[in-house]
Amino acid sequence: MTQTESAYSEMVERVRQGRLLAACMGLLSWDERTYMPRAGGPLRGEQMALLAKLYHERLADPRLGELLDQLADAPLGELEQACVREVRRVHHRAVKIPKRLVEELARTTTLAQGVWVEARAKSDYSLFLPHLQTIVRLKREEAQAVGYDQSPYDALLDEYEPGATVAQLQPIFTALADALVPLIAAIANSTVRPDRSIIERDYPVDRQRFFAESAAAALGFRFDAGRLDVSVHPFCSGLGPGDCRLTTRYHPRRFNDGFFGMLHEVGHGLYEQNLDPQHFGTPLGEAVSLGIHESQSRLWENQVGRSEPFWRHFFPRARQAFPEALAEVGHEAFYLAINEVTPSFIRVEADEATYNLHIILRFELEQALLADQLQPADLPLAWNERFQQLLGLSPPDDARGCLQDIHWSSGGLGYFPTYTLGNLYAAQFMAQARRDLPGLDEAFARGDFAPLRQWLTQSIHRHGSRYRPDELCRRVTGQPLDSSIFVTYLRDKLAPLYRL
Ligand code: ZN
Repeated sequence: MTQTESAYSEMVERVRQGRLLAACMGLLSWDERTYMPRAGGPLRGEQMALLAKLYHERLADPRLGELLDQLADAPLGELEQACVREVRRVHHRAVKIPKRLVEELARTTTLAQGVWVEARAKSDYSLFLPHLQTIVRLKREEAQAVGYDQSPYDALLDEYEPGATVAQLQPIFTALADALVPLIAAIANSTVRPDRSIIERDYPVDRQRFFAESAAAALGFRFDAGRLDVSVHPFCSGLGPGDCRLTTRYHPRRFNDGFFGMLHEVGHGLYEQNLDPQHFGTPLGEAVSLGIHESQSRLWENQVGRSEPFWRHFFPRARQAFPEALAEVGHEAFYLAINEVTPSFIRVEADEATYNLHIILRFELEQALLADQLQPADLPLAWNERFQQLLGLSPPDDARGCLQDIHWSSGGLGYFPTYTLGNLYAAQFMAQARRDLPGLDEAFARGDFAPLRQWLTQSIHRHGSRYRPDELCRRVTGQPLDSSIFVTYLRDKLAPLYRL
């Protein structure tokens, strides 16, 4: 074995052990959110803190730094170079952020999340304000420690979306807002009104569960290598080859929560299940970014799951499963009801079109907070003013305004843009899949999702983190991310529905 080979294999072994620790944390965290008895919280907290410490030590291990230095100019293949590049990114982040700051952030955000729950319940921003002030200050320190070229916000973005910058995102998001605001206004003025009552009727939970699991299997989620359980907030936890845990939530009088929650998580789950197992433990066997991950969930949830051909297959089955709710309902009325577009206050309940305006608002406010152009004390006012401009509504209270999301209390500044990136990438990937795979709609109508799933696996899943998100996008679609593809998709779908 050459020196380079032995350095590379030692690096892989070390990184792989770190990944195994992360999988242990993932499993404990899945259990915490699904089956753990309430009283188990304090013990779980200790277990998680210990594993997090061990994990951080692995990432920041000076020996890993030495190996990365040895490999910096070594003659490596393209795959190995990509692996070294991503390991270096994570190692540098772990090394550059001082331990004191990591601990202070952990302490502050643990406390802040508890306070946030109370502040949101009481809609009392003043409770949360001092915590947010501290978090913004610490995140500013983190950005300085990590370093950046242009904007401190870039340093935070990079944790979730490697390589993304404000300079790259700003024009994309501005163009998107400029296109969405008039489209949403035109829909508001349409005489077509979806009948929402169709999807807010009796949908017995046991049959919802059966229907959702059958659909997940039809889309290609492997239940011999995964599960679908119930939690308050749906999530996907990919632990490694052969074990991917999804959750959704069922409401006895709302169809969308359970079914579309499942579709979203199945999209994440298919990504995890189709990563290359031979690269497990290294970046080559891991999802490349949150934005690309979200593109997979949004693609199945919206591009596929809210399409007309999808329901040509599933609507007759839904009628059989839920005769009380759907016996008298037609395919078109149902299709319109699941595609209702209307401005609302809560991001997680927003539809496909208005959703991105919620994100753009947060993207702007986070940058202003970090740059000290907006004081946390002035956040509610700034939120409400901008919300009115973007969505035409005035939040009645802070619970339905700037207190609604958990992200800031947990220190997740820079996370929100990945949701919109996911929507945009999803539209761009799907447009390419339609070019590469003629007859896709006919396949959906037959209940055949294998061609699309296999295309996604070959184009995206199998590469893991080999390519950065923007490079992956160019390779798959032949061009950089372009928000106009998403806007065209929305217009083509919504204009006939709403007779615009
Ligand atoms: Zn998601």
